[in-house]
Amino acid sequence: MITADCHVHSHHSGDSEAPMRALVEEALQKGLDTLTFTEHLDVDFPTTHEPAGTFDLDVPPYLAELQSLQAEYAGRISLLFGTEIGLQTHCTEANRAFVHAHPFDFVIASLHLAYGQDPYHKEYWQEMQRRAAARVPGADAEVLRTEAEREGMALYLAATLENLQCYEDYDVLGHLDLVNRYFGDGRTAYDHASHAAVIDEILRLLVAKDKGLDCNTNLIWKYGAEEMNPSREILARFRELGGRIITFGTDAHEAAHVGEALDSARAIARSCGFTEYCVFRGRVPEFRPL
Ligand SMILES: [Zn+2]
Ligand SMILES: [Zn+2]
Repeated sequence: MITADCHVHSHHSGDSEAPMRALVEEALQKGLDTLTFTEHLDVDFPTTHEPAGTFDLDVPPYLAELQSLQAEYAGRISLLFGTEIGLQTHCTEANRAFVHAHPFDFVIASLHLAYGQDPYHKEYWQEMQRRAAARVPGADAEVLRTEAEREGMALYLAATLENLQCYEDYDVLGHLDLVNRYFGDGRTAYDHASHAAVIDEILRLLVAKDKGLDCNTNLIWKYGAEEMNPSREILARFRELGGRIITFGTDAHEAAHVGEALDSARAIARSCGFTEYCVFRGRVPEFRPL
């Protein structure tokens, strides 16, 4: 059993209203012994859909509330101090300074944008449709859609690689291959072969720097997929290349989702050859049997 959820967001994140205590209580209900809060910091996030500063993180009140809960729940559950920082190449200095300034237990580096564009919104996919139409003129709607998804994934993975080449202060890469959450109509499958080269480059870089992967169950519990982010093909390849650090998280933004789909995630990771998973404390991985 996985007893740690290492990726959750409370009201200290701009896109969650969940009280920290409610997340802790749910974690106890689900039998977890460790919960890592990973509140968002996304520097210079576009303001087309969100007000400016939505993904700023005010650390002092976050840390104060966490410390109070740590004292209250001591001996019952480990509550850890994490953050999920959004990478953009022009924000590397700001991200470095932020991570350096606080005594985090755990840092997830994630991309929520590909070159400033947000795959969560339909405008991203409209742009990918235009690119696909230009690349495959005369294609029917179904082909165009598949090609747009390919474009959208390729752009996201290219941005991921570029960012990881210029930023190093993190423990795991968040939800690699994220954009298949947003294909729509419940579709999450995509053709790995057409992205194999860039995925390999990303994974080799992670292995070389002894970084890990965030196994993110959101795709299972929210989107009904049988895969996590990243997919089992990516996870198996990471293992094959010598990857050893994986963490598990639900990406819960509401209490009810804490601990969701961790059993499915465990089965997937084991089928990919993993026998251990990690929890980070003081930025150091502790290995636990999977
Ligand atoms: Zn994220
Ligand atoms: Zn998250």
